[in-house]
Amino acid sequence: MTSERDDASGGPTTDGTSPRPDGAGDEEAQVIVVGAGPAGSAAAAHLARAGVDVLLLEKSGFPREKVCGDGLTPRGVRQLVRMGIDINAPGWMRNKGMRWVCEGRAVELDWPRLGSHPDFGLTRSRYDFDELLATHARAAGARLRTQVKVTAPLCDRAGNLTGVSAARGPGREPVRYRAPLVVAADGASARTALALGLERDTALPVATAARRYYRSEARTHDPYLELWADLRCPGTGLDLPGYGWVFPLGDGRINIGLGALPRRGRRTVDLRAALEHWLPRLPAHWGVGEETAESPLRSAPLPMGLNRRPQYRRGLLLVGDSAGMVSPWSGEGVAQAMEAGEVAAETIALALARPAGARREHALHQYPAEIRRRWGRYYRLGTLAGDLVLARYGYRPLLHPRVMASPPLLRALARLLTHAADEPARDGIDAVVHALLRAVPAPRR
Ligand SMILES: Cc1cc2nc3c(=O)[nH]c(=O)nc-3n(C[C@H](O)[C@H](O)[C@H](O)COP(=O)(O)OP(=O)(O)OC[C@H]3O[C@@H](n4cnc5c(N)ncnc54)[C@H](O)[C@@H]3O)c2cc1C
Repeated sequence: MTSERDDASGGPTTDGTSPRPDGAGDEEAQVIVVGAGPAGSAAAAHLARAGVDVLLLEKSGFPREKVCGDGLTPRGVRQLVRMGIDINAPGWMRNKGMRWVCEGRAVELDWPRLGSHPDFGLTRSRYDFDELLATHARAAGARLRTQVKVTAPLCDRAGNLTGVSAARGPGREPVRYRAPLVVAADGASARTALALGLERDTALPVATAARRYYRSEARTHDPYLELWADLRCPGTGLDLPGYGWVFPLGDGRINIGLGALPRRGRRTVDLRAALEHWLPRLPAHWGVGEETAESPLRSAPLPMGLNRRPQYRRGLLLVGDSAGMVSPWSGEGVAQAMEAGEVAAETIALALARPAGARREHALHQYPAEIRRRWGRYYRLGTLAGDLVLARYGYRPLLHPRVMASPPLLRALARLLTHAADEPARDGIDAVVHALLRAVPAPRR
């Protein structure tokens, strides 16, 4: 994808031109969001709730698969609540915390009881999770257009965004959508950002993860998200530089998968081989095997550590995987995608309250600054932990027998892995987590 010159634009209009009700043909809006994953739907829903006219463009139709572990920590639940999603409706499976398994021992870490976060997590297959969020954004007032594949950003002579061109429907009819601001929420491919020259920082890792669904009545209602820290890479004698998971979906299925960080100077980890090596270790009564498999094994990249910067340039804001927002501590990215969507929406709504020009630009540059304030130090520390420990030895060192035997250390570990602590600190563990993060220099950009 490369950007296209928008010769027709004398500057986009935002005068509320009525769109055709069927969404056919060219359209205008105040903001265009590319991609209706968690980042895009959250951004669109928050924008619409703030009274902004927003077009949400998605290349697929719903429901559709998205390769994921389907697990949400309390941070993700908090974002769902902030969006106004009904998490008491059928289809959600609650969990109490994480169960880490390492060298024959298992330890349960309940989610922390914090003032700022719920004390439970959720699972739900992305097959209908993403549809639910996109439908919610539409109900809030966003104009959702599915089967619309964005093919290029449109720019004026000065190089500022004026909208996007796209191919619509099965016939790939060419269409143009115009808006002065575009939110890139198109996931790990980050094609919209790349078209504007926003390359990823290759010093920051991109992990890989794979998942498969199995039918297991024995585990589908497990109240914990189970994680295995002592998996091996067959044929190498090395530990997996990541972890394996077994997440209950509550509908008769479990989501089993594993993720691995890249190891400097070594070949990519063979996740299929690592999974085949691991599965025979699961208890036989779980019934996990080829005969209970419900899907093929599928993998996808996990862009981490804020690996694409700046997250605002020339009318384009990057949210979620397109900005490499997956946590380098845990591989969690859905909560971060929704949170970034909310921050982007708030920044845009405030910016649009100013006249176009330098003052509005100044307000938009607040978005990367706010992302840095929230995650800069945490991601830096996580990247360092990844380089020094996790990519070399996996998660086994974090679950040393002394840690597993110490409830305060386990509580600190849970808060660190899931980035959940009250601020200001309400107990000693919060204080330790904050002190640790303060010791890390804040990134400057
Ligand atoms: C195997 C695996 C397991 C994972 N497990 C977890 C987990 O358990 N918990 C967790 O929090 N995170 C997990 N993640 C990470 C999580 O899936 C991502 O971080 C998250 O989906 C990012 O959301 P997003 O909205 O930024 O991108 P996406 O979810 O990728 O959404 C991008 C959307 O943009 C659309 N799109 C792309 N290009 C275009 C285009 N040109 N035009 C229009 N639309 C377009 C796509 O169709 C898609 O709908 C996992 C990832 C993997 C690979």
